[in-house]
Amino acid sequence: GYHKVLEENRKLYNQVQDLKGNIRVYCRVRPFLPRQSSSMSTVGHIDDGNIMIITPSKYGKGHKSFSFNKVFGPFATQEEVFSDTQPLIRSVLDGYNVCIFAYGQTGAGKTYTMSGPKELTEESFGVNYRALNDLFHISKQRKETFCYEIAVQMIEIYNEQVRDLLTNDGPQKRLDIHNSSQKGLAVPNANLVPVTSTTEVIELMNIGQKNRAVSATAMNDRSSRSHSCLTIHVQGRDLASGAVLRGCMHLVDLAGSERVNKSEAKGDRLKEAQHINKSLSALGDVISALAQKSSHIPYRNSKLTQLLQDSLGGQAKTLMFVHISPEADAISETLSTLKFAERVASVELGAAQVNKESGEVKELRQQVASLKAALAKKE
Ligand code: ADP
Ligand code: MG
Repeated sequence: GYHKVLEENRKLYNQVQDLKGNIRVYCRVRPFLPRQSSSMSTVGHIDDGNIMIITPSKYGKGHKSFSFNKVFGPFATQEEVFSDTQPLIRSVLDGYNVCIFAYGQTGAGKTYTMSGPKELTEESFGVNYRALNDLFHISKQRKETFCYEIAVQMIEIYNEQVRDLLTNDGPQKRLDIHNSSQKGLAVPNANLVPVTSTTEVIELMNIGQKNRAVSATAMNDRSSRSHSCLTIHVQGRDLASGAVLRGCMHLVDLAGSERVNKSEAKGDRLKEAQHINKSLSALGDVISALAQKSSHIPYRNSKLTQLLQDSLGGQAKTLMFVHISPEADAISETLSTLKFAERVASVELGAAQVNKESGEVKELRQQVASLKAALAKKE
């Protein structure tokens, strides 16, 4: 019964979010990996929108709770995660711009959420594949009224340099970011590849992954220190009126958010760490400025935020998946990840704290109260 109330609460809350149309934060907890199964988890109670972290004495022994739009526990499937993301993805076909981010320390499951595990099966497909699949599917359903064209780009940002991941021709060129370019592309010189089926998409992603892997051997585990961005461009022509709408979606697998150990951070490693810190905090600043409806949004502070400028803010919709690892020795990163996520979502989130005076939320509370009363009567 209570679960139903919570579920109802969340639905209503998400409707309010829909009206506001902007920023959501989902938290996902990675399960223990097979060889770790005997370890203790730092994750205590989880419900739909809350997560409790058990902190050791070093961090003030006790519990810390965090609230998000949604919390996925370690047993959540790829399909479940996707089904809560689907409405956002579909809005691209209606001409919205969407950004979906995977944030978290290396090993917490960012790539798993976005792409899936190394050995891909249909069940383990990540958000990327499912999103494209869904877009293909719906565009077919709408073919009587709309003619859609879907094309993708895939780029990497490493040390504040932008590179194309969808090339077959040798060393990747460095690319420039153009805001408001003619074609409406933020990186007009990166390959833009039309796609019509998931098979094509998988081929492209393999090319992208190979290009990332090449760099990884040159620079030890580079993939965790670069941001990779799959951008889906959608153009739809209304067959009746001839009007054209454009939507675009960025699916971003961010660089690992971990702080590097001060003593070991020298040379290249230090430079990478500085670039990552700079771009992740720039992203946090932009999203929190948006959430607070601030008049100045600091897009220009990193390549990442410049790239996404047209898709962050305004009518655009943003979803951040924050990932955490359950292991005890990840506790410090887990807490800073959750704090970052809370800051990003500062104004909008946590039904209890937010918008104290907002009519929408008041109404929502009243509805939940009456649901609870109805429930009490039944039981
Ligand atoms: P990141 O991209 O954040 O560095 P990965 O996505 O590569 O982390 O995840 C690290 C490891 O954990 C991988 O072997 C991955 O397959 C596994 N893993 C991550 N999330 C899950 C999950 N939800 N279920 C099962 N395995 C997972
Ligand atoms: Mg990864």
